[in-house]
Amino acid sequence: MSHVAEAACPPLALIHHPGYRIALPEKHPFPMDKFSVLKRLLDRQLADCARAVEWVMPQPAEEEDLLSVHTRRYVHEFLSGTLSHQAQRRSGFVWSEALRERSVLAVGGTLTTVREALTRGLACNTAGGTHHAHPEAASGYCLLNDIGVAAHQALEDGVTRVLIVDLDVHQGDGTALIFADEPRVFTLSLHAESNFPARKQKSDLDVPLPKGMGDEDYLAVLERTLEAVLTRVQPELVIFDAGVDPHAADRLGHLELSDRGLYRRERHVIERCRAAGAAVACVIGGGYDRDIEALAWRHSQLHRAALDVWREAHGQPALFGPPD
Ligand SMILES: [Zn+2]
Repeated sequence: MSHVAEAACPPLALIHHPGYRIALPEKHPFPMDKFSVLKRLLDRQLADCARAVEWVMPQPAEEEDLLSVHTRRYVHEFLSGTLSHQAQRRSGFVWSEALRERSVLAVGGTLTTVREALTRGLACNTAGGTHHAHPEAASGYCLLNDIGVAAHQALEDGVTRVLIVDLDVHQGDGTALIFADEPRVFTLSLHAESNFPARKQKSDLDVPLPKGMGDEDYLAVLERTLEAVLTRVQPELVIFDAGVDPHAADRLGHLELSDRGLYRRERHVIERCRAAGAAVACVIGGGYDRDIEALAWRHSQLHRAALDVWREAHGQPALFGPPD
């Protein structure tokens, strides 16, 4: 790679903090190690092209950021460790100071991802997508709604049209609720109808999908839906929740996507949204496989697809492409 060619393609911003991962009690069902394994995998995959990306380390979110989408009572109870047993059970975690620090840091990561995306055009977090967190409560492994906080910050910074593309296999119920009465934020959720949460909220557009749907049918629905929404919303910013739990091997998802299908999905969303003139901020969302290496690899396709789109947009060849 010549020096001139490198100068023509600025590095892609990837956001990571070692504090994304904390130790959980043994046999806890949440795959917390995926955050550190994802970073290690990306470092290995990018070893020959380290200058193609720039790692950005986030700061924790401020209490005021959290209050932009959560109730004062919930923020107080979460930060002070006074959540009821019932509230902790609904969250999927036993509260700890480490969990608090990790959660606030992950929100800071998505805030940084959105800021970097608005400055550079595209950026990817290595965490984030805790879309079940409601204004007044945690839910389903989601303590703080990072997507909501970051979208709210973009509005404060003067962005007037935000599109949230939530492709996690579970409905983005918390985010839908947060922005139910906010015309500047359009929430789109494609999810398996039969999955958690049992009680769905109303996104601006919900696309419930039948159990067992595979790559071709899924991608056809996505492509059709995304085109219509991009035309309608004309977003300045897209926040993309690229949860990999629609994968066939995921233990919580009810869809049957392959690795190749997920790569094509990530690439399509980023490419189309960029072509429509939007800055794109990506978060990794859900993924629940007991094989942490396989799970982290699945998540890493988001960053590889983003880098491929980024390089091609700057006249450089893609480095990865879809898996075999
Ligand atoms: Zn999910």
